[in-house]
Amino acid sequence: MTKLPDFAPIPGERHDGNPTDERENFYTCPTCGQLVDMRDLRQVIWHERPMHKPLLSVVD
Ligand SMILES: [Zn+2]
Repeated sequence: MTKLPDFAPIPGERHDGNPTDERENFYTCPTCGQLVDMRDLRQVIWHERPMHKPLLSVVD
């Protein structure tokens, strides 16, 4: 498995404001099945790559 680099996350901001439910910030990747935090651009870019594997940890 691959791990995200140790440098700070690249924060994103929703155009339609913060959701009332925290779960709305996540989606399940159709390729690897891992939950992706849409507020972290590193995760989103990783999961857009074809044939990728799940990240080792997204909560470090
Ligand atoms: Zn994925």
